[in-house]
Amino acid sequence: MERSCERAIEIGLPAIAFTDHADFVKVHPDQYCVDIVGYLEAVERCRAKFTGLRILSGVELGEPHWFADETKAILSAGKLDHVLGSVHCVRLHGREVDASQFPGLSEADFNVAVRSYFEETLAMLDSPHPFSTVAHLDYPKRYWQPGRAPYKESDYEEMLRAILVATAKRGCALEVNTTRGGGETKLCPGLTVLRWWREVGGTAVSFASDAHDPSKIAAGFELAADVVEAAGFKPSAEPTALWRR
Ligand SMILES: [Zn+2]
Repeated sequence: MERSCERAIEIGLPAIAFTDHADFVKVHPDQYCVDIVGYLEAVERCRAKFTGLRILSGVELGEPHWFADETKAILSAGKLDHVLGSVHCVRLHGREVDASQFPGLSEADFNVAVRSYFEETLAMLDSPHPFSTVAHLDYPKRYWQPGRAPYKESDYEEMLRAILVATAKRGCALEVNTTRGGGETKLCPGLTVLRWWREVGGTAVSFASDAHDPSKIAAGFELAADVVEAAGFKPSAEPTALWRR
């Protein structure tokens, strides 16, 4: 976290938000649940050390609707500036499968898994857990099966629009995740969904680089800003504020 703060200052960011993972499913080694007490102490240490940088706290809840008690314990540990709700996994043939494993599925299972991903996102939005931002809405596009026709929003329009309506109804912001600067095809979501977001009455957009490493902090933000602006959202004078319509 200290190296990330150093990097943020180096590239001229006025602020940084750490939204560490609270994952309760363990299907691959990168999944973990933040040590929330240690994390909040680390945030305080960074704030004391980097006084010229605004440091916001947060957590990315993975499948909170599957883990009511665990989610409650994380959220009651202390004050968090940003709480993201996210889905990484679906249940397929009675076991949990992470989206990063989707490319290894059979073609038929892949189709089911992608649709399940959107159904789980909708189920999460229907759950009572408090989160204020919906993370990487069309995450499976990051792990699209090689050899398939490319991911097309219109193939899932009905489900995506239902998710966006539910997101707006909850008063949540929609995150645009750059997949560590992976370019336009890895922007989750891209322009089409952002336009739908505006159409259904969505008011706010947040930006995330999903950096996982200091070198990737804010990677792809310039592209993301152009796309979000093209969809009809504008920045605020306050640099940590959400972009609004
Ligand atoms: Zn995530």
